[in-house]
Amino acid sequence: MKQSVKRTILWLVLVLAVAAVLHLTGNRQKQPGYVEADSGSRIVMGTFARVLVVAKDKESAVETIEAAFTELKRIEDLMTVHRESQVTLINDEASKHPVPVDNDIFYILSESIRYGELSGGSFDITVGPLVQLWKTAADTNTPPTQEQLENAQRKVGYKKLVLDPNNQTVFFAVEGMSIDLGAIAKGYAVDKVVEKIRQPSILGAMVDLGGNIRCFGKPAGGKEFWNIGIQDPHVEASDVTTQKTIFTLAFKDEAVATSGDYRRFNTIGGVRHSHIIDPNHPEAESKLNSVTIIAPTALTADALSTAVTVMGAEKGMSLIESLENTEAILITPSGKITKSPGADKFIKY
Ligand code: ADP
Ligand code: MG
Repeated sequence: MKQSVKRTILWLVLVLAVAAVLHLTGNRQKQPGYVEADSGSRIVMGTFARVLVVAKDKESAVETIEAAFTELKRIEDLMTVHRESQVTLINDEASKHPVPVDNDIFYILSESIRYGELSGGSFDITVGPLVQLWKTAADTNTPPTQEQLENAQRKVGYKKLVLDPNNQTVFFAVEGMSIDLGAIAKGYAVDKVVEKIRQPSILGAMVDLGGNIRCFGKPAGGKEFWNIGIQDPHVEASDVTTQKTIFTLAFKDEAVATSGDYRRFNTIGGVRHSHIIDPNHPEAESKLNSVTIIAPTALTADALSTAVTVMGAEKGMSLIESLENTEAILITPSGKITKSPGADKFIKY
C-alpha cells in the first residue's frame, strides 16, 4: 500500500475515534441526572393547577414548582373578584375617575382590547353585566326581558374602556360598567409562570391552569414531546377518572387552551347557554361545544378559545387562519370536528 493511502486511512481511523468519543460524552451529558417533580393538583384562581418540572436535581425541581405557585398566587391576588384586588378597585372606582393600575393589569387590559378588536367584539372583558343577567335568568329559569337586555348592553363594550398609556390608568366611559378577566387571566398567569421558571438549569416544564397549558423543553424519561389529552365533550364526566380523551396532542414549546360549554352551561327556557356570552347576541344558543386553540403563548390560546367559541366555526376559523403559528380544533354540538390546516401536526392520535 502506498504511504499516502496508509496515512489517509490512519487519519480516518483517528477522526472516527475522536468523533465516537465526542458522541459518547454528548450522550452522557444529555441523559442522566434529570428528575421530574410533579406538584399534583392544587387550587389556584378558582381552578386546578398542576406544574411539572424537569431539573438536574429534585431540590431545584421542587423549588421551581414552589416559585411557580408563588407567581400564580401573586396574579390571583391582583385579578380576583372574590376579594379586594386591583380588578375590584377598577370596578368600584373607574366610572368616577381614571384608576392607576400596575404593569400586569395594564398589559392584560391592552391585550383584552386587542382581542376585542381582532374578534370583531366577540371577545369582550366588559361582558359582566350580561353575565350577571344570565346568571339571574338561570336561577329563575326565565329569560331576561328585552328591556333588561338593552339596559345591560349599554354597559357592555370594550370600546367604552378607556386606557391611558401615559398615566397607566383605566376609565369606564359608562357608569355601571365592570371588567371580568375570567377569559384571559389564566392564560396570562401561565405565561408569567413560564417566564419565571424558564432557566438554563430547567430541562423542561409543563404548566396547567384549568386547561390553559404551556410547556417548554422536554419531559423526563427521554421523551421528546409533552402529551396533552383533549376531552371528548360528548362524554359526560364527573371527574378526571371518567372523562374520555378525543385527541392526544404532542407539544414541544407551545401553549394550548380548550374552552368548552360541556362543563359549564345553563338551560334557560329550553335554550342552552354557555358561560361564555356573545356580547352582540347574548340570547343566541352556543355554537360550539369545544374549542381548542394552539398558540405560542397561553394568553393567546386562552383569549382566542373564548373568542372562537363566540364567533362560531366559520368566522372563528378564518380568524385563526389569519394568525401565524395558531391552530384550532373545533367540535360542534352535533359532534362535527373542524381543524385548521396546521393542527394535524400536533395530533398524535
Ligand atoms: P373557562 O373559564 O371555562 O376556561 P374561558 O376562558 O372561555 O373559560 O372564560 C370564560 C369566562 O369569561 C366566563 O366565566 C366569563 O366570566 C367571561 N366571559 C364570558 N363571555 C365572554 C366574552 N364574550 N368575552 C370575554 N370574556 C367572557
Ligand atoms: Mg379563555
